[in-house]
Amino acid sequence: MYKFIKYISIYIKKLFFLNISFFKKVISIFQVDNILFLKKSSQELLKLSRVTLPKKFFVLINSEVLNRGKLCVRKGDLVLRGQTLTLGCGNIVSIHSPTSGRIIDVINNYIFFLDQFFAVVIVESDGRDLWISRTPICNYTQFSSKKLINLIYHSGILGLSGSGFSTSKKLQCAVGKVHTLVVNAVESEPCVTSDDCLIQNFSKEIIDGCKILIWILKIKKILIVVSEEKIIAFNVLKKSVINLKDFELLKVKNKYPSGSSKKLIQILFNKEIPQGKHAIDLGIIMYNVATVFAIKKAILDGEPLTERVITLYGDKFLPSKNVLVRIGTPISHLMKIYKLNEKTLKVNIGGPITGLLIRNFNFSVLKTNNCIMFVSIQNNELNNFEEKNCIRCAACSYSCPMNLLPEQLYWYSKHSNHEKTQIYNIQDCIECGICEQVCPSDIPLMSYYRREKKQISIAKFKNYQIKKFKNLFLLRKQRLNNLNSRKKNTIVSQYIALNKFNFKV
Ligand code: SF4
Ligand code: SF4
Repeated sequence: MYKFIKYISIYIKKLFFLNISFFKKVISIFQVDNILFLKKSSQELLKLSRVTLPKKFFVLINSEVLNRGKLCVRKGDLVLRGQTLTLGCGNIVSIHSPTSGRIIDVINNYIFFLDQFFAVVIVESDGRDLWISRTPICNYTQFSSKKLINLIYHSGILGLSGSGFSTSKKLQCAVGKVHTLVVNAVESEPCVTSDDCLIQNFSKEIIDGCKILIWILKIKKILIVVSEEKIIAFNVLKKSVINLKDFELLKVKNKYPSGSSKKLIQILFNKEIPQGKHAIDLGIIMYNVATVFAIKKAILDGEPLTERVITLYGDKFLPSKNVLVRIGTPISHLMKIYKLNEKTLKVNIGGPITGLLIRNFNFSVLKTNNCIMFVSIQNNELNNFEEKNCIRCAACSYSCPMNLLPEQLYWYSKHSNHEKTQIYNIQDCIECGICEQVCPSDIPLMSYYRREKKQISIAKFKNYQIKKFKNLFLLRKQRLNNLNSRKKNTIVSQYIALNKFNFKV
């Protein structure tokens, strides 16, 4: 009885402080003084440094690509920076070698992350870092949209904010359908400053990337949106677009998750994307600022995507810094450079709210990583995340920015009820993680939603394949029937013809 009363009183206390629990959790993880430091840093010049090259790169590739035979290299091959390692397939983009050297191994099913297996291509650097022959296109207006989209496809560019959707596929769907391009530089998640840093250091290149997109999409309106706290980034962009009449620069409140594409469309246009539809159906296309920068590099410099800007943050061990890092750089290499102790730290891939904690230092930088955080194992908040039963307090529902019912989604996701999760609009969940942060039962809600979404997309793909093969089977059957009836008709007509001339068959 005593235990029961104690248990209830803990929950009442949690609920009482619910409105500040989200901030409490963030602050407890990253220390109050560091939060203040980050707030201040968004108004200061953010320096960008380059990470020294490791001896070996571990380029992680979705295992599905290998299973479908899209690997272009073999163990022992010599490669140059930018050489294609794997071709794209479906929504998965091609991957290029991050440096010049030798392929020393290819291992399938190397690591399991985000409910999928990753293979690894290990590239040993020769220290020369030689590029493949690049073909920059300065006069891109001489090229058709189709040709430029094809070049973007072969450069392996995807949504660098974390969405991971193929940029060329999105462009293909948008040509002729959109009137407005939104360049998203809001970056509302605490501690992440990679987009801010990119704007401060490469604003001209970002505007060049926008101009390429204007040409491809044949549009007249570009909105570049930054958070109101990013004063320097805003001023730098303002100078760059001063004489460009199609460009408009906007500020939005820095309120998490205003950087999410669905939320940003709501804020900017006061429109909600209907279920099963895309922003393109509203005539809007949105790209993250890092993706626009990668498009510029692919077209004007002829460089496939082999590096990106990420924020490194190490609790009290490593002050926030932005670095230009090659895709495939091992986490252990970053820890070695910044003298971080592997035994006392966990790695958070992504920002503090949406990121995933891993203890495997064999992991390496992916194209979709915008932040890597190093968190102390001693941090009690992170060790005490023991999942308890849902108490139906509805705190998650009150806090959901997309007006969903997270507790219902959790219940049906847990029991893999795909029909119900779709009725409760799981596809509208932007994976902001707020519901998980306020949950007094410490339920890892986002993991449930991610797994459920993955299962739904697999089921949809299977259904699509079943329908496709069924149609092919029916078409074949019809073809064979036609062939048989044609054969029969010929035999009958031959028989009639023979009878006409009184031949005996
Ligand atoms: S993660 Fe939770 S709070 Fe965020 S949109 Fe999804 S259900 Fe809502
Ligand atoms: S899942 Fe939602 S309703 Fe259930 S305990 Fe957590 S916050 Fe409360």
